[in-house]
Amino acid sequence: MAPTVSPTIVARRDQMFPVLDDADIERMRRFGEARSYVSGDHIVTAGEVSPGLIVILSGKVEITQPAGLGQREVIIAYGSGNFIGELAQLSSRPSLVNAEAIEPVEAIVIPSPRLRDLMVQEAGLGERVMRALILRRVGLLESGTSGPIVIGPSGNGDVLRLQGFLTRSGLPHRALDPDTDTCARTLIERFHIDPHHLPIVLCPNGKLLHNPGESELARCVGLLRPVNAEKVYDVGIVGAGPAGLAAAVYAASEGLSTIVLDCRAFGGQAGTSSRIENYLGFPTGISGMALMARAYNQAQKFGVEMVIPDEVKLLGAAAGSSGARYTLDVGDGETVRTRTVVIASGARYRRLDIANLAQFEGTSVHYWASPIEARLCKDKEVVLVGAGNSAGQGAVFLANHAKKVTLLARRNSLDATMSRYLVERIKAQPNIEVLPETEIEALEGNDGDLDRVRWRNQVTRLETTRPIRHVFLFIGADPNTDWLANCNVALDAKGFVRTGSDLGPTHGLMETTRSGVFAIGDVRCGSIKRVAAAVGEGAQVVAALHAYLAQHGNRAVASEPAGRQ
Ligand SMILES: Cc1cc2nc3c(=O)[nH]c(=O)nc-3n(C[C@H](O)[C@H](O)[C@H](O)COP(=O)(O)OP(=O)(O)OC[C@H]3O[C@@H](n4cnc5c(N)ncnc54)[C@H](O)[C@@H]3O)c2cc1C
Repeated sequence: MAPTVSPTIVARRDQMFPVLDDADIERMRRFGEARSYVSGDHIVTAGEVSPGLIVILSGKVEITQPAGLGQREVIIAYGSGNFIGELAQLSSRPSLVNAEAIEPVEAIVIPSPRLRDLMVQEAGLGERVMRALILRRVGLLESGTSGPIVIGPSGNGDVLRLQGFLTRSGLPHRALDPDTDTCARTLIERFHIDPHHLPIVLCPNGKLLHNPGESELARCVGLLRPVNAEKVYDVGIVGAGPAGLAAAVYAASEGLSTIVLDCRAFGGQAGTSSRIENYLGFPTGISGMALMARAYNQAQKFGVEMVIPDEVKLLGAAAGSSGARYTLDVGDGETVRTRTVVIASGARYRRLDIANLAQFEGTSVHYWASPIEARLCKDKEVVLVGAGNSAGQGAVFLANHAKKVTLLARRNSLDATMSRYLVERIKAQPNIEVLPETEIEALEGNDGDLDRVRWRNQVTRLETTRPIRHVFLFIGADPNTDWLANCNVALDAKGFVRTGSDLGPTHGLMETTRSGVFAIGDVRCGSIKRVAAAVGEGAQVVAALHAYLAQHGNRAVASEPAGRQ
């Protein structure tokens, strides 16, 4: 396998691997403990939780990443003033790389909780360390060498599902297709895998998983850890979209113990957006994943506990004298105990009413357009259904990769439902054809592989059949509130959570029918369905949490929390 050099390593080497001076190291000492290693010591092993951020005072350490079939690829050699660590160390997740002492080493080891203290208490130094940790993760993502290895045919639905999950979770990984990759074939032979039982995943800790579910994979790579059943959190947030992550950042930075649960991946709907152009402060636009990854890392910097992917199934009342008022029941019989709850469970994509739709989902029918789908559609003709901004963004993004994008819309024009800038951009894109008043009639194919799509103009009744293998659906979303069916939280006729003054004169804007339970973002009845609105509500709800905890909580909450600006 050819060595892979990340463009970020080349362009931003100094920020990625800063050298701390004596004054910096003196300021760091109080956060850690002195440790010595002899030459040959494995200071950090990929797949295992490292002791923390390790500042090298003297000696040399070689950083390597696993490169398949027992090989190791050298990333860099560190000397005095360098530090070992990347984003995994912010939240005590298993390391993605190995660190081996190649000379005797004197070091300071800063465990993860103390590293977060350093970030907050030593702002300037913390900024440099945080930037280095983020850039190192970007470098590992770009080199595509470390992390779990997914082995299976590249168009296979389960391979796409696992790749999609790892990509959405910001975890470096490799996907190897045994049809084209000799390393994949060797691994299959070595583990005696029947090619009909692919995909398999080889995790950094050496465990082999057979076509795992997302939770099983997340547990194996250390993204998902057991819930601490003894701990009572000040706030439990359901949903890690922009609303939930904003609430988490503000709550944790203001001293509330905070846990966030999400059944899929961080980022919510926003994380699936190829380019967000109307979020304040990003004049050139930003991909939803990049924006949400920043928020996710920011929340972890303030010590937010993330439980992803795990679905909240029930909101219940807590018994006993622990101070907990609510319980959130998640998978495998685990329960989170909290004083307050923020519902930020957003919305889920609507599906087309076509009988055989399910057999093509995951392979040929897609609900978002990321670089993974773009690769599948390269130089092919695709159909996209929808007329809102998400459809417009998807069409423009795919047009840069596909041969042609046919956009089907129910109305006779996009003007009423799509922002002007996107309508103009679609007009300017020669390989996008808009077919108004047109709907899909049938999907034809076998074994999950789509061969043809048939659509009909609803005015002329003219029918068209095209050989198309990929369909994208951007037809709106319904609230994610099924899990609240038996929880005494009032919903409106469409299933959105009711909050605020229509529930009673004393109800705050985001308060639900249950005291201490709040709803924010797209899931809230009457909210503006935008990233900025969701983020704003996430920030705003924290004031309501403080007020509630000051009145009802067992914990002393300052009337004006420290750090609030
Ligand atoms: C493709 C696309 C492009 C978009 N582009 C833009 C744009 O350019 N500009 C803009 O302003 N807006 C855009 N939007 C809209 C914007 O993304 C949403 O308004 C915003 O994401 C809503 O945030 P939220 O946190 O309220 O909910 P969501 O983003 O829906 O997040 C909710 C989260 O809750 C989780 N969840 C649901 N139920 C449970 C449960 N029971 N247990 C645990 N977790 C649960 C979900 O997995 C999800 O991650 C776009 C939307 C899409 C789909």
